[in-house]
Amino acid sequence: MNLGTPLSPAAVRVLLLGSGELGKEVVIALQRLGCETIAADRYPGAPAHQVAHRALVLDMTDPSAIRALMEKERPHLVVPEIEAIATEELERIEADGLAEVIPTARAARLTMNREGIRRLAAETLGLPTSPYAFASSLEELRAATSEGIGFPCVVKPVMSSSGKGQSVVRTPDELEAAWDYAAKGGRVDQGRVIVEGFVDFDYEITLLTVRAKGASGGIETRFCEPIGHIQVRGDYVESWQPQEMSPTALAEARRIAGSVVDNLGGRGLFGVELFVKGDRVWFSEVSPRPHDTGLVTLGTQRLSEFELHARAILGLPVDTALRRPGASAVIYGGVEAGALVFEGVDQALALPETDLRLFGKPESFARRRMGVAFSTGETVDSARERAKSAAAKVRPRPL
Ligand code: AMP
Repeated sequence: MNLGTPLSPAAVRVLLLGSGELGKEVVIALQRLGCETIAADRYPGAPAHQVAHRALVLDMTDPSAIRALMEKERPHLVVPEIEAIATEELERIEADGLAEVIPTARAARLTMNREGIRRLAAETLGLPTSPYAFASSLEELRAATSEGIGFPCVVKPVMSSSGKGQSVVRTPDELEAAWDYAAKGGRVDQGRVIVEGFVDFDYEITLLTVRAKGASGGIETRFCEPIGHIQVRGDYVESWQPQEMSPTALAEARRIAGSVVDNLGGRGLFGVELFVKGDRVWFSEVSPRPHDTGLVTLGTQRLSEFELHARAILGLPVDTALRRPGASAVIYGGVEAGALVFEGVDQALALPETDLRLFGKPESFARRRMGVAFSTGETVDSARERAKSAAAKVRPRPL
């Protein structure tokens, strides 16, 4: 694809479906390469809206709204940034040759629902995963746990992310509460859950995996250094890179990630989530797009995960090398409020090798991710201390 001049007939137009903090960085990376960017989300003033050439508000689960947007904007590339999209319309758009869907419309469909991707990984590709079952009622959930999954187990809505509606269940008495919580936390298709056997892992990683054009002109699959992370209530709070792994576990992680992303196909960066215990590795999930734990790459890699995604989708070469060990720590809103004031940014940035992003979200709530601090250092441990300390120095308060 020849790059051109934005806002001219020579422009390469890229439409982002979803305009969160990850999309904002993708838009910035695309604009640095001279692309024309259009950002869509369900509410005005979303992070990527604030930096794209055009900002649009629409219901992305409505197929006709997506089709109308395509006809108006005529993008060359459609880049889903969230899962909750009318993916059946993306499949029609791809089939009609209206635009290229990143990485593929099928990948967007399979990963929008935990059932699609889990069945692909475990049943089609034969990859190791936690034991699992699906349930559409409390009775089915009870039957699944008593017939094989056992306790402890993890109950999650099939359509959810960031730990919404997810709970760890230790005894049969807790199943009803987990079912009710999942029904409240799920998106769109409420009332169906996955129940997974609890994996007692030593650590979990995100393996950023990129499918991009190689020197030979064909698509090649490359890996970033593994990212370790900590999740609280299913949401990421801290990440670091590189996560130390045994050579056997690393080879297995790459085998699993390569198998999944090569099946999903297309071009782009994927965040493959894996659990690791000793030399054993389990596939958990995959995002066919930059991953929140990968925010750390803004500091650690020569090309961040956002720049890698931009390059890959435009058919350009990538470089996944690590530059320096580093870590990231999330800054939560901590309060329910509209506009926020961030105190202590000067103190945070006075720390060595430390940087931050404030996402500019127009509204805050206690557990909403409003920013991230990231640091590098001689070692991962020193970088983690710096990043956590920087995040703690930033104090959001209502205006
Ligand atoms: P998910 O939304 O599926 O990525 O889950 C969020 C987090 O919950 C994961 O990153 C893990 O820390 C934890 N988790 C999810 N599923 C399991 C499982 N089967 N066993 C142990 N921990 C899990």
